[in-house]
Amino acid sequence: MKFDELNLLRNIQQALAEEGYENATPIQEQAIPPILEGNDLVGCAQTGTGKTAAFAIPILNSLHRIVGSAKKVKYIRTLVITPTRELALQIGESFDTYGKYTNIRQLTIFGGVNQTSQVDQLKKGVDVLVATPGRLLDLHKQGFINLDHLHTLVLDEADQMLDMGFIHDVKKIIKLTPGNRQTLLFSATMPMAIRELADTFLTDPKYVSV
Ligand code: AMP
Repeated sequence: MKFDELNLLRNIQQALAEEGYENATPIQEQAIPPILEGNDLVGCAQTGTGKTAAFAIPILNSLHRIVGSAKKVKYIRTLVITPTRELALQIGESFDTYGKYTNIRQLTIFGGVNQTSQVDQLKKGVDVLVATPGRLLDLHKQGFINLDHLHTLVLDEADQMLDMGFIHDVKKIIKLTPGNRQTLLFSATMPMAIRELADTFLTDPKYVSV
């Protein structure tokens, strides 16, 4: 399927065209329409399938309508939780690339580095926050992160977060977000603990698998 069949905003289509993206990958074709409609979604997909764009593109498309002018106060509208710094940086870059013709501002935060510049950026306001679990909870505890206006929560590489022992932190983070949020869960495999997580925290999710 071509991207121009997905009813995306022109400024996002333009960014995709400049990246050389013409056709949506299977996960994108299946996931983008239900995410645009506001559904919760469970995506069973490995890295390399284009799963980052499968959530970043519809999130940017929906956010662009509400973010509007750069002068407005910014609230964190989208939170992406991912297990490692490398994944976090890749996801942040994807939001920057696909959102280059929008006013949407993203920030990527992770542990193991001084928090000062991350805190400074948070104070300026961001629309999309990409984070590893520990640093997110740490900065939230210190009062630098307000999730009260969150629309969409993405749990990326959920099985890897389970394997790395982050499941308790992930549950804590979910509980900091509004109950009426949209929740998207991506995982390469679907062990019982991940299915339970989806059953507990997602509302009537669509299931897509590639
Ligand atoms: P991911 O599975 O999210 O790690 O993406 C794998 C790679 O595929 C990334 O380098 C993306 O830039 C690229 N990619 C994602 N979607 C598309 C697409 N529709 N057309 C071409 N390349 C893509």
